[in-house]
Amino acid sequence: MPTTHHTKMLILGSGPAGLSAAIYAARAGMQPIVVQGLQPGGQLTITTDVENYPGFAEVIQGPWLMEQMTAQATHVGASMIWDTIVDVDLSQRPFRLTGDGGDVYVAETLVIATGAQAKWLGVPGEQELGGKGVSACATCDGFFYRGKKVVVIGGGNTAVEEALYLTNHSDDVTLIHRRDTLRAEKILQDRLHANPKIKVLWNKKVDRFVAGEGTAGLVGVDLIDTVTGEASHERTDGGFVAIGHSPSTELFKGKLPLDADGYLAVTPGTSLTAVPGVFAAGDVTDKVYRQAITAAGMGCMAALDAERFLAEAEYHAMVDA
Ligand code: NDP
Repeated sequence: MPTTHHTKMLILGSGPAGLSAAIYAARAGMQPIVVQGLQPGGQLTITTDVENYPGFAEVIQGPWLMEQMTAQATHVGASMIWDTIVDVDLSQRPFRLTGDGGDVYVAETLVIATGAQAKWLGVPGEQELGGKGVSACATCDGFFYRGKKVVVIGGGNTAVEEALYLTNHSDDVTLIHRRDTLRAEKILQDRLHANPKIKVLWNKKVDRFVAGEGTAGLVGVDLIDTVTGEASHERTDGGFVAIGHSPSTELFKGKLPLDADGYLAVTPGTSLTAVPGVFAAGDVTDKVYRQAITAAGMGCMAALDAERFLAEAEYHAMVDA
């Protein structure tokens, strides 16, 4: 039987952004509801070791960190609902959202923290070797390749930044790009070409990620030349796929402004979207930093922005009455 839920704050997404917003909002007495979405806990639930989230001297596991954040949000009073929103009406406040089972959410404010997904190549070995040599985040996993050989696949800003970042750990970084020109900004290209630790393989696409014997992880990539069709092999310990991300913004097309890459547009330095009372936090609005800690920070900002918004709305309602 479909239910109607009323809340001062509805939060879509249960990664670090959504859960941090929930913790702050719950502690402010807003009794937020978190709609967890298709991947409760977000991208960190598909990673393993996390070494860069402040507060933990020992290596922790991504899924464990998200369990802790969920438990923390629940302890301070947030409600978690396992649902998938299929319709959003932002034309008037309170906003009305509908879940796939027919539940209706009537929300005075909305925090969108639906995240993003890394795009994958979809070639053999990629999924099987995820966390065993294949990764989509150099900032997260680069440290594990200290002194080893790594490849980065892609030709945009992300790929070039990841290749440059990886030179902090590895002296042998290869960028593999399917064309003979990069899409990345010129300044990044200049830095890439000036770095003696990086070589570029042009006009190559990855045909397969190759696993070692037994439990050994990635040992190399099979390549195909996109011009000649010639096959080759590159030995590597780590493969970083950096071919872009897809922000989860499908629901908001035509309802909220998106940037050219499909990310939710916010007023710089805030979480405010173009619709008063709707806020965005984390990877759904951030294509530059994309870290758990930055997403958590943005979640906190969104909760504080929403709290202020409601306080002002209540003040005006009182004065105007
Ligand atoms: P982009 O879409 O800009 O680049 C993706 C790259 O991956 C392209 O070079 C593309 O090749 C390649 N690619 C895509 N699909 C495949 C595939 N199936 N096989 C092989 N290669 C593939 O994504 P980014 O993540 O680099 O950037 C996204 C947005 O975020 C951009 O607007 C970028 O400017 C921005 N950004 C900004 C940063 C900053 O300001 N510091 C940092 C990172 C990103 P091809 O070129 O042939 O299409």
